[in-house]
Amino acid sequence: MAISHLCLSCGLDLARVRVSRDNALHAPIVTCPECGSSAIRRKPALVKAWRTAMRRRTAAWTLVAQLVVFNATMWSIAGLSWTISHQMQDDHQSLVQVIVDAFRLEGSPMRRFDNVGPWHVSIWIFASLAAGLWLGSALPHWKRWTPYVVWPIGLTTAFSAPFIGWAIWFPVAALAARPTYYDGPSMAGWLIGMQVLAASYVLTCIAVQAGPFARRSWDRSRARRWRKRLARRRLLRGGE
Ligand SMILES: [Zn+2]
Repeated sequence: MAISHLCLSCGLDLARVRVSRDNALHAPIVTCPECGSSAIRRKPALVKAWRTAMRRRTAAWTLVAQLVVFNATMWSIAGLSWTISHQMQDDHQSLVQVIVDAFRLEGSPMRRFDNVGPWHVSIWIFASLAAGLWLGSALPHWKRWTPYVVWPIGLTTAFSAPFIGWAIWFPVAALAARPTYYDGPSMAGWLIGMQVLAASYVLTCIAVQAGPFARRSWDRSRARRWRKRLARRRLLRGGE
């Protein structure tokens, strides 16, 4: 109900008069029961401002949530890929061997303290799949091929962060005439890490395929909730 809406012809308060949607204009029309003149019902400025703010707040929170998911999955995959690739390099193992050992050696005396554990591998797999599900479902305005391009670029950048850090630090240290030596990852280590990253990317691509299904079922459940709410509202109004 409007707070107050005075008829411009006779001054009757039309706040209690029900709006009728005009089919041609799609405007909320109120007809005065006293004098028969029509007026458009406007929402009070305060209500309008509040609704706009709420819509913006929802959009802002969506953006924050997207950034959190993007960063959480990307950095955890990049970091864990480094951990896994270190063991591949040190022990001359393949990715499959490292993954199998992570579960096989758990709790055995053969296990070294710096071995990749089941948690490392599980989170690495889970983050790869979660990233794909998210890329495939949360960004319907993206073109179909976009996640397949954007994701590996972001992942490679995050993974190469130690190199980028060194590339910035080296000239600075040289300028400051500080004795410095390279302590960062080697090129061979980077290439092995890229294999781990590629494997994660394959998992992500598989999960992207499942994205639209996840989105459709989410949309359906939301539509069901809306229908229920509308039905309840209609009942409260007296079943029209
Ligand atoms: Zn009137």
